[in-house]
Order: sequence, then C-alpha cells, then structure tokens
Amino acid sequence: MSKSALLKVILLGDGGVGKSSLMNRYVADKFDSHLFHTIGVEFLNKELEVDGRRVTLQIWDTAGQERFRSLRTPFYRGSDCCLLAFSLDDGQSFRNLANWKKEFSYYADVKEPDRFPFVVLGNKVDVPNRQVSEDDARRWCWENGGHPYFETSAKDATNVASAFEEAVRRILASDDRDDHLIHTDTVDLQQTSQRGPSCC
Ligand code: GDP
Repeated sequence: MSKSALLKVILLGDGGVGKSSLMNRYVADKFDSHLFHTIGVEFLNKELEVDGRRVTLQIWDTAGQERFRSLRTPFYRGSDCCLLAFSLDDGQSFRNLANWKKEFSYYADVKEPDRFPFVVLGNKVDVPNRQVSEDDARRWCWENGGHPYFETSAKDATNVASAFEEAVRRILASDDRDDHLIHTDTVDLQQTSQRGPSCC
C-alpha cells in the first residue's frame, strides 16, 4: 500500500461541447460519437503520476443543460479544480464561460475565483469550421484570472492528457494536499476507473 492524493476535478460547460467525451477519452482512451447524455452528474476515477506525485483524480462530468442545474450544483463543493469547457465551433459556448465560472464559484463557495485553479478547454480542435480564435480564447483566460488554456480534441486525443495533468499541477501548486491523502493499492496504477452515480 502507498499514499496517493485524492483530487476532485469537475467538468463544466454548455451541453454538447464534449465534456463526457473528454472524460471518456482521458480515462478509457476511447471516443464514442454516440455516448449517452449525462443526466445530472457522474464521475470516474483515474490514477496517475505527475512530477513524481501519485494522485487519484476523481473526474466529475456534469449535464450542462439549464434544466439540470439543480441536479449538478450540489456537487460543486469540495472541487479542487474546475475545467471550463467550450467548443471551438460554437461561439455561444465560449461566451458562456463567464456564466459557468460564476455558477461554479457561487455553489462551490469559492471566495476568490481568480485565484482558484480553473483550467479552460477549447474542445473539438479537429473540426474545420472553428468560430473562436486561439487569440480570443487566450485573451479571455488572461483577463479572467490567468487561467491555463488548452485546445483539445476528445476525438483524436489532442492535448487531453496534458490538460488533466495541468489541472493536477495547478492543484498541487495551489495547496498542500496532505489533507487529501488516502491509501491506494500500487497495482494497476495507470488504468483504474470506477463509475460513480449517474445521477443524484
Ligand atoms: P457534453 O454534452 O458536453 O458531455 O458533450 P458530449 O461529450 O456528449 O459530445 C457532444 C457531441 O460532440 C457528440 O456527438 C460527440 O461525439 C462530439 N464531440 C465531442 N468531443 C469532440 C471532439 O473533440 N471533436 C469532434 N469532432 N466531436 C466531438
């Protein structure tokens, strides 16, 4: 047995931007264009090592539709990092980032949102018809707290692992996670996954 930090990461963003696909790509290294829609929330665990630290990442996927707001918001508390996702071929999902940041900060009771570890993902970088430029996305991240920005593709895996690893680095840099230490089995370190409740 050895020690590993348990880190809770939550994925937020409009419905259809690719949150479930990003989680599926990262945890299972799969892309399925016919994934079932998330209803409320669900989570998967993945164990990994970043800069010599073993961590268990508990990734919470949420339903972005307005009608699911009351189902997802109770799960924001206790998050160590929030991944704000939009789709590069959907300008409205980019313009909604500020609302997602506000909703998360309110329900997670984050006192200083610009100091909290948010990571921004511009997903579907593989599509030809992008509506949001990299410059505009980087400017938004810079002007709204200096959040790291990644252009990802759940379809072809571009930058997906890098984005989650950056989330871990930001968490570990922002805090001493010793309060999150748990015992985990050292066997099967890379691919452990566990499906959580599909709904509350
Ligand atoms: P969610 O509602 O944010 O969880 O979005 P989903 O993961 O359900 O994805 C919505 C749609 O976008 C699905 O048809 C996915 O196959 C598609 N999709 C997700 N990520 C990507 C991507 O990186 N590239 C492309 N081309 N399509 C994607």
